[in-house]
This record gives sequence, structure tokens and C-alpha cells, in this order.
Amino acid sequence: MDYKRALQAALPDLLEAGIIKFDVPLKDYCSFKIGGPADVFCTPVSNANIIAILQFCISENIPYFILGKGSNLLIPDNGLRSVVISTQNMQKLTRDKDYISAFCGVSLSELSEYAQQMGLSGLEFAHGIPGSVGGAVYMNAGAYGGEIKDVLYCSKCLVPTIDSLTSGNPVLHLKAADHHFGYRKSVFQQGKLIHLSSVFHLVPKEPEEILASMDELKEQRWEKQPMDMPSAGSVFKRPEGHFTGKLVDDCGLRGFRIGDAAVSDKHCGFIVNLGSATAAEVLQVIRHVQQTVKTRFGVSLETEIRILGDHEA
Ligand SMILES: Cc1cc2nc3c(=O)[nH]c(=O)nc-3n(C[C@H](O)[C@H](O)[C@H](O)COP(=O)(O)OP(=O)(O)OC[C@H]3O[C@@H](n4cnc5c(N)ncnc54)[C@H](O)[C@@H]3O)c2cc1C
Repeated sequence: MDYKRALQAALPDLLEAGIIKFDVPLKDYCSFKIGGPADVFCTPVSNANIIAILQFCISENIPYFILGKGSNLLIPDNGLRSVVISTQNMQKLTRDKDYISAFCGVSLSELSEYAQQMGLSGLEFAHGIPGSVGGAVYMNAGAYGGEIKDVLYCSKCLVPTIDSLTSGNPVLHLKAADHHFGYRKSVFQQGKLIHLSSVFHLVPKEPEEILASMDELKEQRWEKQPMDMPSAGSVFKRPEGHFTGKLVDDCGLRGFRIGDAAVSDKHCGFIVNLGSATAAEVLQVIRHVQQTVKTRFGVSLETEIRILGDHEA
């Protein structure tokens, strides 16, 4: 790839520091444990690193992808011909009174555990969701009656244009209303904005009470979901007036399998990787489930997971 050489010339410091690597298998960076290599894999440790990498990609017209914890993704078997910018090393958590600020790469579990230790309530719902703060804001992640939008106070982000990135003041501040949150939706999906950090507004509560709620939700999750198997969580969005798992089960598709990709025995809204499933097999299971449910019940199932590559959805 020519742009690898251009990248070596443009950002030698980041290469030397190990922040930029080549040909990195993405299956190691997503919860499905599926996916071929990224041409370029970056692990920025600062906003300045992210800005430098984005500037390179945009000016050289090279596609890039922001990767959180990879818990809502199906990555193609041949990988991504792009620069993957992983937020895994963007880690910082701070507290100021009833507000907690978290960088995009902090995991939701760490964030909710930190809030619990600080005696701040509101993030209990997020404890078992295996994503990062950036991915959770992007998706408006939610569970058990709670959603990111309920607790988010404001965010910092980047607008990925050369004008904005070179403006000298590239960080854009978003208030809660600017996020345009909906069911598994946010402005980040439309605007291609890069999330850097968010502040969450929480409510004081006894740490023991918060811990008890978190433990209860964790128990429910482990009881109902295949948490011990590689997956990307609920594959489909909840169709209005229905429960996806029930529709799939009523079609007789519990355990339906192609290769090593199977509808979970435990929760029919999940597809699990039984060992060495490929993205192609997962896609075949998705299409089969969608067609069967449509034929039987007339309900269209829209994917909640992001399907990358040629089948991008
Ligand atoms: C077992 C299991 C259970 C789950 N349960 C739930 C649940 O109860 N509720 C729920 O809502 N979800 C659930 N999920 C799905 C997933 O955890 C959430 O969607 C999560 O918010 C995704 O975060 P992530 O960091 O993994 O994002 P990724 O999967 O890495 O990315 C998702 C999208 O966000 C974008 N993105 C990530 N970070 C940034 C950033 N900093 N700036 C801009 N864009 C960014 C990516 O480009 C991508 O388009 C579950 C998944 C699993 C595997």
C-alpha cells in the first residue's frame, strides 16, 4: 500500500512510539472475535495524536474508522483497507461534585464502577454493556430502562475536516441537546464527528445501594444473555410492538446455525461465534433470520450491529 509509505514519512514519531502499526488482525479487537487485518492500526494516546492521524487521512483521502471496544461490530473476513483509529489508550476519569468526566476509550464498566465508588448513581444500567464511552455515546447505548442520554451532560468532539482540525481550536463542545439522541441513535452517526470525552451528571447515593443495583442487573444479564460466548450483543433493533428474541424463537430459529455462526440458544436476539465463525457465516445467519421473520410475521428486522466493509450497513 502506497499510503503506508506516505504515513511513515508523515508521522515517523507515532510509528516509532508504536502508536501506528501495520496489518493488525481485527478479530483481537472486537467481541465477535471475527475479522481480518486492518492495513493500519493506530492507538493514539492524546487528542493531538488523533488530530495528526485524521489530518493525514483526510488530506491523503484515505478512509479511516474509529474503533471503540468493537462490541457492536461485524468486521469483514478480509479486514479493512483503511486506517483504524482505536481509542483503547484514550483513558481518563475524573470527578467534580456530581459530574464525572470520561475519555472516549474508558470502558462503560470502569465508568460505572468509578461512579459507584464515588457514591454517584445513574450509570448502573451501563455496567454490563461491554463498550467504550465513545461507542456508547455514538450508539446511545442503553439497558434495563436506562440510556446514555439520561445522564449525559456534555461532550467534546472533533469535526473531521482539514479546516476545523487546523483551526487552532479544533475541539467542539456539544451540550446534551446537541447530541440529538434517539433509540440507538446520536448525532455522531450522522455527522461523522469524532467523540473525545463526555461529562455525565449523576445523583448522590449510598455506594452499597448502587452496588446492589449493579449486581442485580449483572445477574439478570448473565441469566438471560450468552455473556460467555463471543457475540456483538443484540443483532437487531427492537421492532416496534415486538421482541426480537420471541419473533426469532417463534420462527423455530433458536440454535439455527451456518458454520460456526449460530442464533444463541440462550437469547434468540444474539448470534454467537461457536469457535471459528466467519463474517460471511454471520451475515448468512442474519439474512436468513430477517427473511424468515419477514415471511412469517411481516416484520422487518433492522440490524443494530454495524456491518463493516462491502456489506456496510
Ligand atoms: C454481550 C453484549 C451485550 C451487549 N448489551 C448491550 C446493551 O444492553 N445495550 C446496548 O445499547 N448495547 C449492548 N451491546 C452492544 C455494544 O456494547 C454497544 O453498542 C456499545 O455502546 C458499543 O461500544 P463500542 O466501544 O464497543 O463501540 P464499537 O463497536 O467499537 O463501535 C460502534 C460504533 O461507534 C463508533 N465509535 C466508537 N467510538 C467512537 C468515537 N470515539 N467517536 C466516534 N465514533 C465512535 C464506531 O466507529 C462504530 O461505528 C452489547 C454487546 C455485547 C457484545
